[in-house]
Amino acid sequence: MNKEFAGGKSENIATFVRQVFQPEDLVLREIRKRSTSKGLPEIQVGEMDGLHLEILTRASGAKKAVEIGTLGGYSGVCIARAMGPGGMLYTFEADKNHAAVAQESFARAGLKENTEIFIGPAIKNLNLIEKYGPFDLVFIDADKENYPNYLKWAADHLKLGGLLLGDNTFAFGMLADETFENSEDATTVRSIRLFNEAAARSGRFRATLLPTGEGLTLAVKIK
Ligand code: SAH
Ligand code: MG
Repeated sequence: MNKEFAGGKSENIATFVRQVFQPEDLVLREIRKRSTSKGLPEIQVGEMDGLHLEILTRASGAKKAVEIGTLGGYSGVCIARAMGPGGMLYTFEADKNHAAVAQESFARAGLKENTEIFIGPAIKNLNLIEKYGPFDLVFIDADKENYPNYLKWAADHLKLGGLLLGDNTFAFGMLADETFENSEDATTVRSIRLFNEAAARSGRFRATLLPTGEGLTLAVKIK
């Protein structure tokens, strides 16, 4: 339950923090439950990570955001609600069943006008929104092997000072491993390493990796 909490060292601290910060309201709780009951994989951001996304979006003052990997709309609601009534979230999802759940989530959250879902492989569809750029924030949380490609897209379509966020950048605990159980894991790790290296050292971002349970790369476009 608390696996997503930074470090995960102390269950007591995680419980305390959740009680104080109350990360998940009724809207988000309903999305989490409905997503599960509709058979979606339980891979949405953890509740504290959802709150991190909301606060980072608010802090950045973003009004135009892009999300790659919608699932049931949990993280999308966190980002879209943080932008307020003038905000717009363009979100990309390959699976039409996931997108249908997200559509309902956005409607229930009162964010129908502030969200648009693009169904299909993100790599193919991202060009559809380029005319609305440059963007204030890009959140990457889909197929790991394309993380370097998504970063490249973000570097080209974020405004200067725009925020790049990448979830699961500890590569499910495998980031520093040398051997892998299968080639899929090896590919995941190679891609997430490339992603982190590009965020850290391409010269286009100043970047850090926040030690959430899953690892959240956070970068500001500087060039
Ligand atoms: N951001 C969501 C979780 C996303 S899970 C949340 O925290 O609420 C990853 C999602 O990416 C899944 O729904 C999966 O179907 C989608 N996905 C996988 N490959 C994709 C691709 N190539 N293009 C777009 N979406 C993809
Ligand atoms: Mg994720």
